[in-house]
Amino acid sequence: MKRVAIVGGSLTGLMAAIMIRDLGHEVHVLERSAPEELQSQAAGMQAGLEVEAFVKRYIKEPGNYGIFANSVDVLSKEGEVVKCIPMSVPMRLVTWYALYRLCLGILLDAIPGKRSATYETHRHVTDIRDEGDSMTVVYRDLEAQREKVMRVELVIGADGANSMVKKKLLQEVSPRYAGYVTWRGRLPEKNASQETLIRLREKCTIHRVEDGYFVIYYVLAGSADETPKTHDIIWIWYTNLAEDSSEFHEAMTDRDGRRHFSTVPRGKVQPKVWAQKLEEGRAACAPMLIELMEKTEEVFLSAVRDSTPTKGVFSDGKVILLGDALALYRPQSGSSTSQAALQVLALAKVFEGKITLEEWEKQAIQYNVLHEGCYIGDDCIVYKNHVVMCRGLRQCYYNGVLFVLIYKQLNWDAKTSPSTRQK
Ligand SMILES: Cc1cc2nc3c(=O)[nH]c(=O)nc-3n(C[C@H](O)[C@H](O)[C@H](O)COP(=O)(O)OP(=O)(O)OC[C@H]3O[C@@H](n4cnc5c(N)ncnc54)[C@H](O)[C@@H]3O)c2cc1C
Repeated sequence: MKRVAIVGGSLTGLMAAIMIRDLGHEVHVLERSAPEELQSQAAGMQAGLEVEAFVKRYIKEPGNYGIFANSVDVLSKEGEVVKCIPMSVPMRLVTWYALYRLCLGILLDAIPGKRSATYETHRHVTDIRDEGDSMTVVYRDLEAQREKVMRVELVIGADGANSMVKKKLLQEVSPRYAGYVTWRGRLPEKNASQETLIRLREKCTIHRVEDGYFVIYYVLAGSADETPKTHDIIWIWYTNLAEDSSEFHEAMTDRDGRRHFSTVPRGKVQPKVWAQKLEEGRAACAPMLIELMEKTEEVFLSAVRDSTPTKGVFSDGKVILLGDALALYRPQSGSSTSQAALQVLALAKVFEGKITLEEWEKQAIQYNVLHEGCYIGDDCIVYKNHVVMCRGLRQCYYNGVLFVLIYKQLNWDAKTSPSTRQK
């Protein structure tokens, strides 16, 4: 039996904690943020096949945790559907919060005969130290304002894009900025017009605009344990913004003057920054998008970053990186939570003695290579000279292929559009 500390209590940390706890080990999850702070960044995401496999194995009665999109519609500026692409495997769309609640509930459930786990928020891990036969985790209890330490045999670094654990071990610079940001909003369906609802139902919709594009889809409102009966509409606007511009600096600085690395949370975006972007949107978008943006009460903003993994296992196997801390994908690939689920499922095999940690590390890194490389598919669909869609050669990478091409396109824009040209 091992004593394990997990740094970061978002989806990767929770999935890893459930898996390790189920194998009879003692697990402690340390999460920096307060629960309400976590919720303020949450929107929708795709739960890929790997997430489904995790849920099937570890969550016996998951309830209704997502809904399916059966096709992708491409919308013109006039609001007409110019392309409808049926999906042979429907895409399961969920909210971050629904998955989070589902996993947290399972983790905190006391199972007879199994060890229980702890999940603590307001715990900011500041250091990890290799003590030879064990690891020391140093963290700050943000409620008590005290430094504390924990001695464990294994540390899982699931602390996301700007991972402290990774920086400590690899002395790496932060993940690179991809040249564009996402504006995101969430609107209860009751606030949208009937026409918009009909157009969006059971679909994922894409709308290309100059310098970026939108993705719009439905999710269940609330979380699985609240048996949600209504839907919310999620819209995401991917748009170029040069890192060295004053606009970028201003956008990533919140209304209290705090500069953010990844996300300016809901309720913190400077009103004048969003007002200006909305004005741009009014001139460029289909009427449905204008409606959604205007009716959204609070938007939030993320700088898109990515990183390629080089190493996932450290200190003779006493530290393992997982999820976004290991490899950071751009959100369009819909791969972040899927890679985390896959890594956790594979790590279970290491604990069970079926594969070695070296084999696990190789697999985890290969997943990234496949997703980066698999854009060379066939059956591309071109819309107004832009490749917006592609069906992959292999079904299991369908979703990866689908979106990788879109962001390659955005990259191209980022380099050539006058407003964002790199110096
Ligand atoms: C609150 C929140 C909401 C999100 N909502 C969405 C969404 O709507 N759609 C989407 O596609 N993706 C979303 N994501 C990202 C998504 O969860 C990840 O891309 C993916 O699931 C992999 O998750 P992760 O756990 O590896 O990383 P993350 O989800 O980024 O989680 C890392 C966690 O580690 C914690 N942490 C970081 N540093 C420390 C430290 N030093 N000590 C202790 N804890 C630390 C962070 O607070 C965070 O909770 C969200 C992430 C968060 C944190």
